[in-house]
Amino acid sequence: MIIVLGPDHQEEDLQRIIRRLEDLGLRAHISKGEHRTIVGAIGDERILNELPVESFPGVESVLPILKPYKLVSREMKPDDTVIQVNGSAIGGPQIQVMAGPCAVESREVLEEIADALVPSGVHFLRGGAFKPRTSPYAFQGWGEKGLKYLAAVRERLGMMIVTELMDPRDTVLVCKYADIIQIGTRNMQNFRLLTEVGNIDKPVILKRGLCATIKEFLMSAEYIMAQGNEKVILCERGIRTFETETRNTLDISAVPLLKKLTHLPVIVDPSHAVGRADLVSAVSKAAIAAGADGLLVEVHVRPEEAMSDGPQSLRPAAFKTMVEECRRVAEAVGRSM
Ligand code: PEP
Ligand code: MN
Repeated sequence: MIIVLGPDHQEEDLQRIIRRLEDLGLRAHISKGEHRTIVGAIGDERILNELPVESFPGVESVLPILKPYKLVSREMKPDDTVIQVNGSAIGGPQIQVMAGPCAVESREVLEEIADALVPSGVHFLRGGAFKPRTSPYAFQGWGEKGLKYLAAVRERLGMMIVTELMDPRDTVLVCKYADIIQIGTRNMQNFRLLTEVGNIDKPVILKRGLCATIKEFLMSAEYIMAQGNEKVILCERGIRTFETETRNTLDISAVPLLKKLTHLPVIVDPSHAVGRADLVSAVSKAAIAAGADGLLVEVHVRPEEAMSDGPQSLRPAAFKTMVEECRRVAEAVGRSM
């Protein structure tokens, strides 16, 4: 249930409602907008049937939340969530670009890639130190050694680090080095892992599962928020369809739909969506036109030598051209990049 407090409500009206909800065993989630304060009653709402919430002082209206997800819903928080990471805002007017190799390979190659990203104005370096691979015999990532290479780039170039967490047992370790934690497609419904990142104080990029519906995707985001971590970034990265020419199929309509259903920032990973470098630029521009708040792109200085996802990795020159083209699309839709 959503309890809307009108523009003239007093702080004590709000506190009274919070106390009553807590007495009933519910949790109050507060969202203060410019004109109104919204209180979400989280828990078994049936309890509220007996409480005349409408007649409490300060209350303007009471609405049921019909969707199964609550904290992530627009109804609960009409204003966009903007996540600040070291002075860069994700979800605001500026579109953020996160780029780098699929996997952290060696210190030298990582440094080379990071240097090549600087002319494109990239503030976020992506790279996996723990890699979820389809084959147990494929390169699995360097673990902490890879995280240290990422940290060295942050130290030298001031870039923020985006890297994947695959296992709750590595949470403390990965958080030591990462600015943003990535939860991969294959773990979108690893509820133990979602609960774990719900308890940390770092932004989390949640990638949509290979075969997940929008509702399932948002329920997974709800898992994270239900633990208290409100810094969730949704990432559409392509879903599995009958098509085989591309690695996955980018669900472009997911972008405006998610923006409508939730207040959370929405980014797009064009690289895993298409799986081939020649299409990455076109779908990135489409993503920005559709309202995406950012891009997560794989870039490698020598894709032919990449230890994973070479065919979908852009060379730095192609990436730079892509960013310039994307910037023009961003301006056309009233954003900056
Ligand atoms: C990745 O970002 O390198 C990755 C493994 O992505 P996904 O989980 O979307 O497959
Ligand atoms: Mn990859």
